[in-house]
Amino acid sequence: MRAFKILFCVGAMAIGVWSLSAQEAQKIDPEIQRAVQALRVQARKTTLQLMVKGKYSCCISPGCTFCTMAMGHCPCVQRLAQGESVCHTCKGGWEAGHGSVPGVKKGAVKAFEGAFLKKVFDERKKSLKRKKRRK
Ligand SMILES: [Zn+2]
Ligand SMILES: [Zn+2]
Repeated sequence: MRAFKILFCVGAMAIGVWSLSAQEAQKIDPEIQRAVQALRVQARKTTLQLMVKGKYSCCISPGCTFCTMAMGHCPCVQRLAQGESVCHTCKGGWEAGHGSVPGVKKGAVKAFEGAFLKKVFDERKKSLKRKKRRK
């Protein structure tokens, strides 16, 4: 029943977002805007903590949040330096001209391969299940 309720909520949100026109999307509830802003501030704080611990070095500016949320660290600079792929947010950042590593051409930046991403998402799914069980 709980799973159904969650599915229903996610479905309703998807339909809600889908039915917003571009103009309506600009007028999102101020309460939600504040929540989104608080999320950004928290993401920035967590990113700085990870940087201090040497666990976050992103290749775009502003840095990605995908790696923090999905893996708890960002390996993109090291991976890029070794000619390996970076996360899709970083790949998109390079496409948009926000790459922050001198000497790298955006055309040379590759996004995480399917098998690597599958591991990341499988691990994330597992960690979400662990958190649910603890409640
Ligand atoms: Zn990066
Ligand atoms: Zn990333």
